[in-house]
Amino acid sequence: MSDPLVRRMRPYERTIFGEMSGLASRLGAVNLGQGFPDTGGPPQVRKVAQRAIAEGRGDQYPPAHGDPDLRAAIVEHQRRFYGLPVDDDGVVVTTGASEAIAAAILALVEPGEQVMVLDPYFDLYAATIALAGAERIAVPLTAETLRPDVAAMQRALTSGTRMLLLNSPHNPTGVVFTGAELAELARFAVANDLLVLADEAYEHLWFDDNTHVPIATLPGMWERTVTVGSGGKSFSFTGWKVGWASGPADLIAAVRVVRQHLSYVSGGPFQPAIAAGLRLPDAYFDGFRADLAGKRDRLCEGLSALGMRVIAPQGTYFATTDVRPLGFTDGDQFCHRMPHEAGVVAIPLSALSDHPQVSAPFVRWAFCKREEVLDEALRRLRGWLG
Ligand code: GLN
Repeated sequence: MSDPLVRRMRPYERTIFGEMSGLASRLGAVNLGQGFPDTGGPPQVRKVAQRAIAEGRGDQYPPAHGDPDLRAAIVEHQRRFYGLPVDDDGVVVTTGASEAIAAAILALVEPGEQVMVLDPYFDLYAATIALAGAERIAVPLTAETLRPDVAAMQRALTSGTRMLLLNSPHNPTGVVFTGAELAELARFAVANDLLVLADEAYEHLWFDDNTHVPIATLPGMWERTVTVGSGGKSFSFTGWKVGWASGPADLIAAVRVVRQHLSYVSGGPFQPAIAAGLRLPDAYFDGFRADLAGKRDRLCEGLSALGMRVIAPQGTYFATTDVRPLGFTDGDQFCHRMPHEAGVVAIPLSALSDHPQVSAPFVRWAFCKREEVLDEALRRLRGWLG
């Protein structure tokens, strides 16, 4: 029988994350590929979920747009951290940030219109743009330094471009856009009257002198921006699949329409728990960052000592390295040999890219793992490369 899968989804049959996690478990390799922590999130948040299950809260469908208390906590969070004027009608709870992204694209972009993404990009963007019958324009980050390149974006723009999909802190590179870069991106969006989908799943994961500034806070941006957040990333409960979108009521009303026909609702007992997470004191968020910064340093120093050029992660829990100094030209080949020869798994940026001339030499390593796991990966790599 010919392939029953609809044509527009055929390029997206497999994800590099599924492939690499599968390889890791089959070979017993250390998995620094898919981005998920190997320790649980804050115990007080887990307790709220346990209590919710014990008491039967969330056994049945939560309200379509989310548990009212979680919606209130999202409003409070967006105001507390960023001063954004979010109201209850500007919030929708989703099945992870993934569904928020899919629903926003399906709700706001007509078939045939274009969504501009910065390349390399999280693979779900390409798949959901295709699902919407839209077209992606992937504009490469600057070669070598991997920064947004607004001049290149301007050249790639067409009259059919409807949406700009931004992601900072940026997966897979670990880059956090500077104030100047955000201002330039905002001016570009306003000048060309683009909607902006801001995937800010890693909003609480940034290091050193960096900070997270939602692009919705910039002049002219609030009214055109849907901002996406992730309980999985902010509280290390990726399996709970609680995410959200927020923004002006008219855009969120559109996202709500589509979203209710995707998963309808999900995560009944987890929604009040994520509400508790969003209300944790600053000490939680500071401690989370400090712990990850230590892991980042541990892994990056080790990778650098092995001879790779490390693009120091400013945010996310991913480190990107250039493997050319090791004598490899192709990160994809590197990542497909390494599980077998070294027993370590990482992600080639070329799998998340339409522009191999920029992305091919780069490999992404997740450092949200226990210290002994990072050390074991480095020990194996030293044996392989040394
Ligand atoms: N966001 C995670 C990553 O980039 C994984 C998401 C996924 O596997 N769908 O690794």
